[in-house]
Amino acid sequence: MADFDFDLITLGAGSGGVAASRRAAAHGAKVAIVEAGRVGGTCVLRGCVPKKLLMYAAQYGDSLAEAAGYGWQVPSDLPFDMARWQAAKTAETARLEGVYRALLAQSGVEIVEGHGRFVDAHTIAVGDRKLTGRHILVATGASPVRDAIPGTQRCATSDDLLDLSALPERAAMIGGGYIAVEFASMFARLGVKVSLLYRDSLPLRGFDADLRTRLATALANAGVELMPGQAPLRVEGGPGAWRLVLPDGQSLSAPWVLNATGRRPNTTNLGLEAIGVATDASGAVRVDAMCHSAVPHVLAIGDVTNRKNLTPVAIAEGRAIADRVFGGARGAQVDLRRVATAVFSVPPIGTIGPCESDLIDDGVTLRVYEADFKPMRHSFTGRSERCYMKLLVDDATDRVLGVHMIGADAPEIVQSLAVALTAGATKAQFDATMAVHPTAAEEFVLLRSPRRAGPN
Ligand code: FAD
Ligand code: NDP
Repeated sequence: MADFDFDLITLGAGSGGVAASRRAAAHGAKVAIVEAGRVGGTCVLRGCVPKKLLMYAAQYGDSLAEAAGYGWQVPSDLPFDMARWQAAKTAETARLEGVYRALLAQSGVEIVEGHGRFVDAHTIAVGDRKLTGRHILVATGASPVRDAIPGTQRCATSDDLLDLSALPERAAMIGGGYIAVEFASMFARLGVKVSLLYRDSLPLRGFDADLRTRLATALANAGVELMPGQAPLRVEGGPGAWRLVLPDGQSLSAPWVLNATGRRPNTTNLGLEAIGVATDASGAVRVDAMCHSAVPHVLAIGDVTNRKNLTPVAIAEGRAIADRVFGGARGAQVDLRRVATAVFSVPPIGTIGPCESDLIDDGVTLRVYEADFKPMRHSFTGRSERCYMKLLVDDATDRVLGVHMIGADAPEIVQSLAVALTAGATKAQFDATMAVHPTAAEEFVLLRSPRRAGPN
């Protein structure tokens, strides 16, 4: 049997790569992890973590203003200092990078700094160094798409947004997905006049329609100018003076533009084709349910496979691979059919399971329960923010198939309910669960009359 330098070489020290490498090392494997940039990857350095830290900044502004309704004397002028946020965020992400490096070192994983590339099916070149591995894991993530719309190549992406030290006065944001919606919601609260341009009639294609309409209302209430069906045909000009040419023949000028038209797997210049690893039209590595590519000892996880591009998925896939390949756990595999997700708009969305229209299309006879109310927190604030919850129940089995919520703490609430759905909970079991009062979450166990029941 051939000798290799390492049992596992991982390309990419992001969420998935770090999790897989540490777990493999814990099973006794000799592991190297190759990283072209900073250790930690998208989530820690330019994704979930800094994004949520900016969301907190936006929410503090709301809370300060709302406190007046509860008796606090609040100055009318509350300026936000982005430079101060930026300094704090930079220090925090540097701290987290240090934590990740230390965890890898403690696990005995060797960090190799530089861009990794296949030389042959078992050999990775990093600069002048060549490493051989029995197994190779591609965990190189994804990067913002810059060419979906002509002229957007030089527009800011989420990477640039999170590095700003000063906010623009006005911003045009292109896209109606997670990134556009989250940052439109935050920027509007931080004092930026935001126009959101997307090609569908509502933001967040693929989410439950009742969440989409309410999110659009919440964005509009926060002052975001919604421009459905107005994704620009092209973008002209440059930093400070952009001109967006719109499908209706009009144009929109903005000093700053966010291009949030999706992300593309990082597979260019990896040498995958030469060793027979297949990719799809988006550049994603094609994998089976066990994350094996067309070359069995080359595996791929996370965003580079472009399936469910979420941090917990990348981590779970990484650990499952390590458990299977090095830990003898034969069946270890990640079930992507029921993945909970959150959109960190204000108010946020939390959701798990199919949306109502998908279940109807599948011919499921549903009972649909919902609650729509003004949260108690806003009794004195004068805000119009509402909370909406929906349970989708299979009438034949009484199983709860979908939970959808937009409202304060929705991600936290849905995370807990995800356990119940994973366990196959029925509506009767929701009904038998005692409420915690007074909370918003208790509404989920107090829904008694379906809005709609019976055949669709
Ligand atoms: P990554 O974390 O991207 O790691 C890939 C690593 O590979 C990078 O460090 C890169 O430098 C390195 N690399 C690339 N090519 C090479 C090479 N040839 N050689 C060596 N190294 C290489 N997900 C959530 O679940 N919740 C959220 O709230 C959330 N918010 C997000 C907000 C934003 C703005 C963005 C952009 C993403 C967000 N995501 C969120 C998605 C989440 O960040 C990704 O799904 C997750 O980071 C994917 O992990 P990964 O390991 O696949 O890739
Ligand atoms: P999304 O896939 O969520 O959204 C992309 C948006 O770009 C869609 O609205 C899409 O429109 C639009 N778009 C794509 N191509 C064009 C085009 N040619 N012209 C006009 N509009 C276009 O991608 P994001 O960049 O927002 O986020 C990337 C991924 O990162 C997410 O899918 C998610 O997996 C992850 N993420 C997760 C977060 C979380 O968990 N909270 C937060 C941020 C990111 P259309 O809908 O019409 O196709």
